[in-house]
Amino acid sequence: MSIMPAPDRYAVIGHPIAHSRSPQIHALFAQQTHQHMMYSAIDVAPEDLAPCVREFFAAGGCGLNVTVPHKETVLALTGRLSPRARIAGAANTIVKEAGGRLMADNTDGAGLVRDLTHNLRIAVNARRVLLLGAGGAARGVLAPLLGLMPRELVIANRGVERAQGLANTFASLGPVSATGYAELDGAGFDLIVNATAASLHSQLPPLPACVLGPTTICYDLVYANADTCFTRWAREHGAAQAHMGLGMLVEQAAESFSLWRGVRPDTASVLSLLRQHSPP
Ligand code: NAP
Repeated sequence: MSIMPAPDRYAVIGHPIAHSRSPQIHALFAQQTHQHMMYSAIDVAPEDLAPCVREFFAAGGCGLNVTVPHKETVLALTGRLSPRARIAGAANTIVKEAGGRLMADNTDGAGLVRDLTHNLRIAVNARRVLLLGAGGAARGVLAPLLGLMPRELVIANRGVERAQGLANTFASLGPVSATGYAELDGAGFDLIVNATAASLHSQLPPLPACVLGPTTICYDLVYANADTCFTRWAREHGAAQAHMGLGMLVEQAAESFSLWRGVRPDTASVLSLLRQHSPP
């Protein structure tokens, strides 16, 4: 009689974490690709981060996803940063490499780009892109967005110095500039990506309507069951399309999953299941 080995263990750590849909997404990926693994959500307060990560891997854990507020602080606990994590200054994925060394990676930008270009068939090349926000999420998606070769990428943030800092950091990767919201004027952008946390608080960045034109596509990194403030505003002001970030969430998860398991899950079926079974 053969005894089934224990499943490989993965988890997402954050604070709070109860809302996370990652356990559901990874369970669907594992089922679909026949991977013998389990994936849980662990609430970790900032002061417990280092011992928690250490103990998780010492006890045989194979990989972690990392979310707010640990994405930056977790870097110091790993032995190696992928180029994506280094340029983003943040990680959302920890991979245990052969020999036990921990590698920090960042799949958020790849997730956004895959949702935009593969799922939604949105062209970015030679387009004018407006990126709202200059926090960790904006930083994580900047290099992959510039990799799509937009005509220009403008970062708008309430704190303009923060946006300017990002524009300076990423200037070698493409035509990127920074501004405050009040200075945004002129013709509509082709694509507006909301990487602020405003929608989480049912708020709207102070955007002038002139940033929208009839062909503008809007994308909110935040996702909800119904429109966010931003996607509602976009529709009410005549945007051509308005999308929320559930596709990005599933795609960044698929990227993490394939780093850990060496197999890429089909995301379309998982995304459609999640859309049908949204929590209340
Ligand atoms: P963060 O580091 O705390 O940054 C927050 C950003 O939002 C800052 O630029 C801040 O501007 C801006 N902001 C907050 N409230 C605002 C308001 N009312 N009006 C205008 N700007 C406002 O957060 P983060 O890690 O970048 O995350 C941002 C969002 O992305 C979160 O809501 C997160 O859920 C989402 N996200 C989604 C995915 C996905 O897979 N879909 C992945 C990663 C992140 P100031 O600097 O001026 O304060």
